[in-house]
Amino acid sequence: MKALVAEGLDTFYGKSHILHGVGLEVGEGEVVALLGRNGAGKTTTLRSVLGLTPPRKGRVQILGTEATHLPPHRIAMLGVGYVPEGRRIFPYLTVEENLALATGKRKGPWSPDRVYELFPGLYERRFHKGRQLSGGEQEMLAIARALLLNPRLLVLDEPSQGLAPMVVRLVAEVLLRVKREGTAALLAEQNARLALEVADRVYVLDDGKVVHAASAEEMRKDPGLVRLLTGIGGEWRSQA
Ligand code: ATP
Repeated sequence: MKALVAEGLDTFYGKSHILHGVGLEVGEGEVVALLGRNGAGKTTTLRSVLGLTPPRKGRVQILGTEATHLPPHRIAMLGVGYVPEGRRIFPYLTVEENLALATGKRKGPWSPDRVYELFPGLYERRFHKGRQLSGGEQEMLAIARALLLNPRLLVLDEPSQGLAPMVVRLVAEVLLRVKREGTAALLAEQNARLALEVADRVYVLDDGKVVHAASAEEMRKDPGLVRLLTGIGGEWRSQA
């Protein structure tokens, strides 16, 4: 069974036709990256799959369930964790309170203790409010919150955005650890190097279409191709 199968997605914002027949798959335990320049349609693809901006055409299957017309909360209940762009943590709740709200009923490897073990920095800051955290700590909290649901598919939207290179490194290590636990992930990124380090396979989006699909290994060998397809280099990037 695949963690995710999306076929022929056509998605609109009002009259703007954004996605044109986007198709992708994530196998169980597989980490798949969506690469592409600003505005290529990465976020819209994630939103289409999650039911947040339902596609007008196409089909979505998640963990063996037909999910094309399901609302977002039903999709979450299938075992999908989402780390949105901009993190969306609760700014006036402490780290501990943010995590307590997320602790789900689904059984799996992630408990608050294990999450704190993965993010010792969050443990140290557990009584601090969300808004007092740095961008990197907020990203860690958003990932920790999604993990506590013990998802079978983790969806992350540009987790490296705005982070210093050292923190991007930490995000990479966390994603590798999640992968070792056997959790499937779909990751939208502009940081090609991060994506290629953690992913098994890559789809490149441009102008709302999948323009290239390859194994991460193949792409790692060809930084010129990555640059050509995405307009983005293979360096660790921090975006303000
Ligand atoms: P980014 O890195 O900027 O998030 P992206 O690859 O995730 O880029 P999307 O956010 O999916 O790209 O945007 C794809 C296209 O859809 C862009 O042209 C964008 O201007 C447009 N778009 C995004 N959100 C909306 C919206 N709410 N209403 C209208 N157009 C939108």
